[in-house]
Amino acid sequence: MKRHAPFLVALALFGCHVSQTAGPGLDRQAAAVQRRAIVVDTHVDTTSRLLDEGFDLEARATTGHLDLPRMREGGLGAPFFSIYVAAEWVGRGASRRALDMIDTVYEQCDRHPSEIALAVSVADAERLHREGRVAAFMGIEGGHAIENSLRTLREFHRLGVRYMTLTHVNTNDWADSSTDDARWGGLNAFGREVVREMNRLGMMVDVSHVSDDCIRDVLETSEAPIIASHSSCRAISNIPRNLPDDLIRAIAAKGGVVQLNFGTLFLSQAAAGVAWPAIEKINALRKSAGSNPVTANEEIERMRKSIPTVHVPAEALIDHIDHVVKLVGADHVGLGSDFDGVPSVPDGLEDCSKLPWITKRLLEKGYSEDDVIKILGGNLLRVLGECERVAARLQRERPPSTATIEKLVPDLHH
Ligand SMILES: [Zn+2]
Repeated sequence: MKRHAPFLVALALFGCHVSQTAGPGLDRQAAAVQRRAIVVDTHVDTTSRLLDEGFDLEARATTGHLDLPRMREGGLGAPFFSIYVAAEWVGRGASRRALDMIDTVYEQCDRHPSEIALAVSVADAERLHREGRVAAFMGIEGGHAIENSLRTLREFHRLGVRYMTLTHVNTNDWADSSTDDARWGGLNAFGREVVREMNRLGMMVDVSHVSDDCIRDVLETSEAPIIASHSSCRAISNIPRNLPDDLIRAIAAKGGVVQLNFGTLFLSQAAAGVAWPAIEKINALRKSAGSNPVTANEEIERMRKSIPTVHVPAEALIDHIDHVVKLVGADHVGLGSDFDGVPSVPDGLEDCSKLPWITKRLLEKGYSEDDVIKILGGNLLRVLGECERVAARLQRERPPSTATIEKLVPDLHH
């Protein structure tokens, strides 16, 4: 790149920010952009550590991907804590599991009020950013958490949950998963009612984990833009959990956003080739774990640890950002790391303290400051804001839904 330096200096002199050379100028610019941006990560699984390991966010940990010191270092202002309900909780108190997860987020906010507070709106994120505190959002992962009840869905919204991933690795009673049997060909009638009620509440509909047909049904049903909270591009790493180009285009056409997963198998076909067969075995074990979940969890941990590491450079994430931007522009892509949820992350993005590297690299590649700020979180907040506006309108137009799955899906148990 050295031989282009005079050309770049000339561009800089004329105020044109097509590209940047490395150096203190770029470092200063990146730091300023990082401070201005409300950095959103739509999927962190640290909640599982809070609940199952008694983990606390206050001290810098030597394990895992996220805590308050590393969030400060990385400028991560608005993580969505995943209220993750594993498939083995179906029929065994899935809603209570979600409530316990939610309580851990409240507990952290109560323990460290000067550093982190619950956020349920765009206004909250902006205010907490000004105050220098972390905005703790929540998203449910696994629609079975509502136990087929729209009233329970509304209770979760009242507690502050602002998105729901319609399935996890399991197809549920109303939506098909990308990693399970297609029982409904997408969404059934109750699934469509769930989406409509989420729209009325202002809870973002998340299509990570669901089948391609289910994404199409959601796009057809939803009255608001939708998100994929932690999925990457299937054109680069061909696994069912990633999004094909036509669905990235369809999500963007509806004003939505694709939040890219940092997991190496999501980013690299070489890593997927090694890890995906093991992930499929783990998913099968999760789905069949009903009778003995404790043994299953130990087995799952052992299997996760035995997945061989394929080193993937951080640049792989940039390739996915570039791919989405080439397809649909810079307004429809963001970050959904899956920190503390994926077996391995790229070299150079080892934890949330490394997020400023993304900012620097995008500026270096010639992305405008405005586009970088959108990718870091502006796009997601735009979608949340739009969902808030749609909800305000729908709440004037219709009352809460009283639909039940028994009424809408009479052949449920056949
Ligand atoms: Zn997930």
